[in-house]
Amino acid sequence: MKQVGSVFFVGAGPGDPELITVKGLKCIQSSDVILYDRLANPELLKYAGVNTELIYCGKQPNHHYIEQTQINAIIIEKALEGKTVTRLKGGDPCVFGRIQEELEGLKELGVHYEIVPGITAGIAAPAYAGISVTQRKVATSFAMVAGHLCHGNTIPEEKWKAYAVGIDTLAFYMGISNIAYIRDRLIDHGRDPDTPAAIISWGTTSTQRTLTGTLQLIPELVREHEVRNPAIILVGEVVRMHDQYAWFPEQPVEMFS
Ligand code: SAH
Repeated sequence: MKQVGSVFFVGAGPGDPELITVKGLKCIQSSDVILYDRLANPELLKYAGVNTELIYCGKQPNHHYIEQTQINAIIIEKALEGKTVTRLKGGDPCVFGRIQEELEGLKELGVHYEIVPGITAGIAAPAYAGISVTQRKVATSFAMVAGHLCHGNTIPEEKWKAYAVGIDTLAFYMGISNIAYIRDRLIDHGRDPDTPAAIISWGTTSTQRTLTGTLQLIPELVREHEVRNPAIILVGEVVRMHDQYAWFPEQPVEMFS
């Protein structure tokens, strides 16, 4: 009987290729096939073997080169051919990574799989901007929120209330196109408009840029500086750390508050 292969769902980390785990790197080095996303730094592929098949899954907002169902099908097909497959995803594969869809069917087919966590952008981008998402006495809770679900009433109002007043630090992923809406929901539900906020784009890469201001004014910042994806919107008192502790070289930007 033909041997079934294995699938490793690997977090590539947020951008800086050195932020991948040792285990993740070993998966890249030993795989027959690597399916990688746009946000997984392609520099990591240089660690793959010369005969490794590289498949770009090129997801971009509103524009999927390979449909999700096709990705799922390729993973299964390669595994059933007995290959070792690495599914390389930006950040952590379990944070807004649609991993559940890609796991579907693997167990039933007898495919061995593992999940190798990665460093997620919502923690790493702030860290490279000198910001710790929790801080004693200032922030004892932190949430990662999907910003692109904010159309209409997709996030119920009571949840917005909880985000607005119940959680100290909020990291919005995929939120740039909805930033004014996010700002309005938080303020309407009781968050102080003067709460410090930051937008960190291309965090941990050589093009990282951090903009800081107040929650009230953060949509203007995005407009004025033409912030591009990927970016994390960080809301909370911890953002103040940036002024004092920023350490990673960035292009200077004018402060705006
Ligand atoms: N699994 C990923 C998140 C995928 S969702 C993780 O754990 O990081 C894609 C969103 O992640 C982007 O829209 C952006 O909000 C965020 N993101 C990913 N990489 C980023 C980076 N280098 N800098 C800032 N935000 C990033």
